[in-house]
Amino acid sequence: KAKEGGRNDWRIFSPSMNVESFKQYHLERDLRKSIINEELYVHYQPKVNPKTSKIVGAEALVRWNHPEWGIVSPGEFIPLAEENGFIFKIGDWVLKDVCETLAQWQKQGIPVVPVSVNVSPKRLLKTDFVKTVQQTIHEAGIEPMLIELELTEQTIIKNTEATKNIITELKALGVKIALDDFGTGYSSLSYLKDLDIDTLKIDKSFIDGITLESTNDAIVKSLIFLSKEIDINIVAEGVETKEQLTFLLQQECQQIQGYIYSRPVSETRLESLLKKEVIQPLQTNALNEAIE
Ligand code: C2E
Ligand code: MG
Ligand code: MG
Ligand code: MG
Repeated sequence: KAKEGGRNDWRIFSPSMNVESFKQYHLERDLRKSIINEELYVHYQPKVNPKTSKIVGAEALVRWNHPEWGIVSPGEFIPLAEENGFIFKIGDWVLKDVCETLAQWQKQGIPVVPVSVNVSPKRLLKTDFVKTVQQTIHEAGIEPMLIELELTEQTIIKNTEATKNIITELKALGVKIALDDFGTGYSSLSYLKDLDIDTLKIDKSFIDGITLESTNDAIVKSLIFLSKEIDINIVAEGVETKEQLTFLLQQECQQIQGYIYSRPVSETRLESLLKKEVIQPLQTNALNEAIE
């Protein structure tokens, strides 16, 4: 077995190696088989209008059910996939799966909502990206406005010119663009106007500090205010507590995504949530259980 990975394998079994890097080695090696073995699947986390409790969108989040390691979180395998280049295949697979699911739901008369898909910076900058997005949406037969692509602030700070052009092309297709994890990359707010972004997602780290730190409150407040001024959507990510929700309601934050409403759920579970159309925030007891 030690021969499989090639001549550098002596490092793999050195006694100094810890369990983490042992696991990473196996995950990275097995990633290539994950799609063909049908080990990847998509979970969906609802985005909710807190005023009406209506589900107004969902985010697609990839999961990997590894035959030996069990369910692996994207936080663990996406960085590996970005390193070994398999992220291209994973990203395209997720987009295709989401488009097909939306098409199927529409056929069944389920009231669908726009779904956002995370895009790795490397994938975005590869020449065939825009074409792939267009083809995937076209083949599934859904409207482009049902797809929102989430780019991180990091993606946008680097390669500004190239990124800007790609965003322009994507917008021309009719897909929406969101800026994910906003506030973590120290980018200037002027990017927002420059780039024709549809949605701003306030990073969880800011939401965590709500009502605990006054500077945090001020930052969140001004981001919500700004989003109204420049007329873009705003989503607060990682909302877990009643206090955070109350604050965000007071500030008239348009959309909430977080455990307070729902964890990421299976396709079937989202389907039944969409049929109901509304979702109530969890009460404190249930919430503690949901968070663990
Ligand atoms: P993200 O795009 O910022 O997604 C939000 C993450 O926050 C998700 O973690 C979600 O489960 C988690 N989250 C949402 N609400 C709460 C909350 O109230 N409390 C807590 N503690 N967490 C909350 P997840 O699914 O583990 O994904 C982690 C990251 O992996 C994502 O961050 C995204 O950057 C990346 N990722 C996931 N799916 C994909 C994909 O298909 N493609 C690419 N390129 N990246 C992906
Ligand atoms: Mg499906
Ligand atoms: Mg995201
Ligand atoms: Mg995020």
